[in-house]
Parts: sequence; structure tokens; C-alpha cells
Amino acid sequence: MVYYAGVDLGATNVRAAVADEEGATIGVSRNGTPRGPTGIDVTEGVLRTLREACGEAGIAPTRIAATGIGSIGPFDLAEGAVIDPANLPDSIDRIPLTGPIANLVDSDEVYLHNDTAAGVIGERFHADRNPDDMVYITISSGIGAGVCCDGQILAGWDGNAGEVGHCVVDPRGRLTCGCGHDGHWEAYCSGNAIPDYVRLLADDDPTIDTGLALESPDFTAKDVFELAGEDDLADYAIEQLAHWNAVGVTNVIQSFAPIVVSFGGAVALHNEELVVDPIRERVSEMLLNNVPEIRVTDQGDDVVLEGAIASALTGGTGDRGQLQG
Ligand SMILES: [Zn+2]
Repeated sequence: MVYYAGVDLGATNVRAAVADEEGATIGVSRNGTPRGPTGIDVTEGVLRTLREACGEAGIAPTRIAATGIGSIGPFDLAEGAVIDPANLPDSIDRIPLTGPIANLVDSDEVYLHNDTAAGVIGERFHADRNPDDMVYITISSGIGAGVCCDGQILAGWDGNAGEVGHCVVDPRGRLTCGCGHDGHWEAYCSGNAIPDYVRLLADDDPTIDTGLALESPDFTAKDVFELAGEDDLADYAIEQLAHWNAVGVTNVIQSFAPIVVSFGGAVALHNEELVVDPIRERVSEMLLNNVPEIRVTDQGDDVVLEGAIASALTGGTGDRGQLQG
């Protein structure tokens, strides 16, 4: 019997799972992502989590034939490491992943993907039709896409293909993105950005009634969606978010011609009717290309971990035709 492993390294949690050759999960583990002080501490946290998952599965790590990793970036792909991750302390400059994991499991079959690429691998593997042309879009604290085009998972230079949250959607550039540039999709529609965007809309038109606590430091995107249908400013904001999301998603569909677009990330998962349904309605009016199926992932918060396992099972592709074992 051979076994496969998946690792999901996020800024908050690191998770690992061990699967049998059918892809059935037989051991899992989750820990908080170490906050440093160095990247090596994060590496050790990943290795510990993977060892724990092996322990729960009742196997030695060296029984793992292949490992997939879905991780926060950015990467040095040649070194198999995360470099200067944005949402971890500054003292963490380099998190080696593929080398240490290959040592632990005694196999060089270790596939490193950014988390959205892992998302599309998982969606492709579990999809009814296993399509060769598919996009996974996360709308969460940030926005990004994983793209499978002609059966290839796009990586690009240093794995940065699919950083679509940093596409300009508003040429007036009224909001500045966390990356420092103006008018990016993520600067309007990510969970982190929505409060500032709602404040901007309120400044534009102070006559719109609202009960939202705009000036409170505790004001979050969740407050806006909770007042849908009850608050004029919340409703107006949700409509404007739908517009920018539709612009961003249309650009992605025109660029890659997917058959299926699958959404994940907390903002999309928790607000399907208010976020994804309006995108579906608007995109069909904006596209020249064929209108793809637009859906929400069935895998919820597990989509990256499931993608990492699917990567291990399929040589990094999510193509069930490539199943090993
Ligand atoms: Zn940006």
C-alpha cells in the first residue's frame, strides 16, 4: 500500500492530511502557523503537523509516495521556499518547504503550489466532469485565482500567475491596494478592503441612510452583509461590490475561457446569495466568450488541503487520468 499527503500552509493555520491510494483521508492534523521568529520555525511547524497526520494514520512518514503543498506565497520556486510572506512577521524571510518535506517522507515527489492553484487542482479532481479548462477564484482576505488551461495548471514566473486580485478594475484608482498600487480588484472587494470601500461610498453620498458603525475599529465586511435588505448603505455597497467582482471575473473568463468557475474563500462561501449569485447574473451580460458554469466549491474551507492531496495523487495536475498507484 502506498500513501499520499497534502499540506495546507496558511498565515493562520497549517494543516496536513494523509490519504490512501483511493484518495480517502486516513489521518489529519492542524496547528497554528508558527509566528517565527524565523522561517525555519515555520518549516518545523509544517513537518510536525505532517508527522502528526502520519501518526494518526498509523504509518511512518517514509510510506508517503508523494506530497502536494498548497501555500501562501510568494515563492522561490527553484528553491521550493516561501519568501517574505505578507501576513507573517517580518522576521520570517524564507520558509523552506519542498526540501525538508522530501527529506521527511524520503521521496522527491513534492509538488508546491500557491493556495489558489491548489484550489483549482482540488476542484478539478473532484468535479463531475474533470474539465481541462477551469478556474478557482478565492474571495477572502485577498482575491486570487488558480487556473487550469488546456489541462495545465498555470504557474508563471515564480508561481505568480493568477494574482488577479491585483488587476486594475477601477482606472480612477480611488482605493489603494495592500500592495501599494491603486484601483486593484482586491482594494475594493476583499474581506479586508470592504470596510474602507463602504466608508468611501458613504463619503460620496452622505444622504444614504445607514446604521453601520462606519467609524468603529470593529466594523468589518461581515457587518455589511448582515444588514443586507435592512440598510440602504449596505444594499448599495453590496450592489457596487457585485459590479467590481463582475468586472474582475469577466476579465478572468475572457483571458482563460474556463468551462467552470468555482468560488471559495470566506467572503464567497458565507455570502453565496449576496456575492456569487450577482456575479453570475452580471457576467453573462458582460462576456463575449461562452458563459461558464459559475459555482461555489463543495469543499468549503478544505478546498486547499483537498487540492494538495489531489496534487499528490495526480502528479501535480488534478487530472484523474494521471492517478498513480
Ligand atoms: Zn494590489
